[in-house]
Amino acid sequence: MMNAEEKWQGLPYYPISQFYKARFGERVRKISVSVAETCPNREGLRGMKTCNFCDAWGSAAHPDKSGLEVREQILAVRDLMRRLYSAKKYLVYFQAYTTTYAKVAELRKQFETAFAFTDVIGAVVGTRPDCISDALLELWDEYAKKHFVSVELGVQSFSDQQLTWMRRGHSAERSRQAIRRIREATSVDLGIHLMFGLPGETDDDIIEAARECNSLPIDNVKIHNLHVLRNTPLADDYSAGLFSPVDKETYFRRCQIFLQHLNPQIAVHRLAALSNKPGELIAPDWTAYKMKTYQEFLGFMRESKAYQGQLWEQNI
Ligand code: SF4
Repeated sequence: MMNAEEKWQGLPYYPISQFYKARFGERVRKISVSVAETCPNREGLRGMKTCNFCDAWGSAAHPDKSGLEVREQILAVRDLMRRLYSAKKYLVYFQAYTTTYAKVAELRKQFETAFAFTDVIGAVVGTRPDCISDALLELWDEYAKKHFVSVELGVQSFSDQQLTWMRRGHSAERSRQAIRRIREATSVDLGIHLMFGLPGETDDDIIEAARECNSLPIDNVKIHNLHVLRNTPLADDYSAGLFSPVDKETYFRRCQIFLQHLNPQIAVHRLAALSNKPGELIAPDWTAYKMKTYQEFLGFMRESKAYQGQLWEQNI
């Protein structure tokens, strides 16, 4: 029988790159584009406030290009990807803010623009659990019948207390309902984003998060450590001594525990947050060294002989 690392490209967990390779037969790169200018939180709908960790760009990967039309953004980022990685196939990632807040007709146009490129083989849509409508589900499903369409939901936590602290404006139950609703109404690939390193978080909370993932009909998960970015509400808390990010070892341990309890068939995108804008990261400093930190994490897992699904409780 193969051990975990033989199964997963030499890694102790199931990387999303392996899923893409199996699905598309080759490596794919993501082109992140910005299509929504705001989100319910930033608009202050229903008394909501900007999430405490969110920067002025709504997490856009290429904020300098967000004023361009989608086609121009795709051309610009694709050119960069070709030069840097000799990439040939792409997924367009409608990433910034809450893309489904835009009108469904607008989203249709954006999908058409993306799929007009012959080397664009799929679309990935990032959104919130409370921005799902029947019209949107129909649109996703229509395109999922013709192309690869993936939806990534910003769940962030399954603790209502933590969600309130982050000012997310939705509950954990809302996330569960959105996941089930998307799964029932569409054939999209479905992933969620989770944040670790929240105040008061315990190892048991992490195990519980893995169990939630195992019990829900999801295909993949993306993990971020909570980092402090300039000009965010969290930066104010950090300066006032009201919040400190977890240290690297604690974060590694939490990720390891999560992976050990996670169903080995759920693919994992990335394991830490990434700040794209120079000078934007305030803390913790270890998150700035993406590859070094990642290699250290792999070493941490290997030293403990840990791997994804090692403590997975299939019946829970
Ligand atoms: S994280 Fe998303 S939902 Fe929250 S304020 Fe930023 S763009 Fe809006």
